[in-house]
Amino acid sequence: MADKTGRCMCGAVSFVATDMAGNFSRCHCKMCQRWASGPYDGVQVESTKLSFGEGDNISVFRSSHFAERANCKICGSAVFWRLTSGPYVGKTSVALGLLDDTDGMMMTSELFVDLKNSTSFLPDDRQQMTSEDVAKIVADF
Ligand SMILES: [Zn+2]
Ligand SMILES: [Zn+2]
Repeated sequence: MADKTGRCMCGAVSFVATDMAGNFSRCHCKMCQRWASGPYDGVQVESTKLSFGEGDNISVFRSSHFAERANCKICGSAVFWRLTSGPYVGKTSVALGLLDDTDGMMMTSELFVDLKNSTSFLPDDRQQMTSEDVAKIVADF
């Protein structure tokens, strides 16, 4: 458990999470793929221990009869999803990538593993570019 801060890509949505889980889960369901362009990595926190910064910049979408998903109204970053019915109401799954510091966090569960396919695995012969490699390319843009 830890206190974590985070924000969306553009910064319009920021948050502080208290007693956040130190691990994350990966969901391979098709809904998450469409939402996050791949598996969704989420970190659980009690909803009452998640507070957002100033501004009304979160758009909440009811994605099914039992859950809702939230995005930044400005940049579209996936921010969280949470159940709206059932025994886990009261917990929020915050998008891992929004956290300022994810070092040390480990994946401890995967959901919908039957939906994993070739896109879920990393071929050994894939091209790999560092931040510096990419910076050299975009320097001329
Ligand atoms: Zn944003
Ligand atoms: Zn999912």
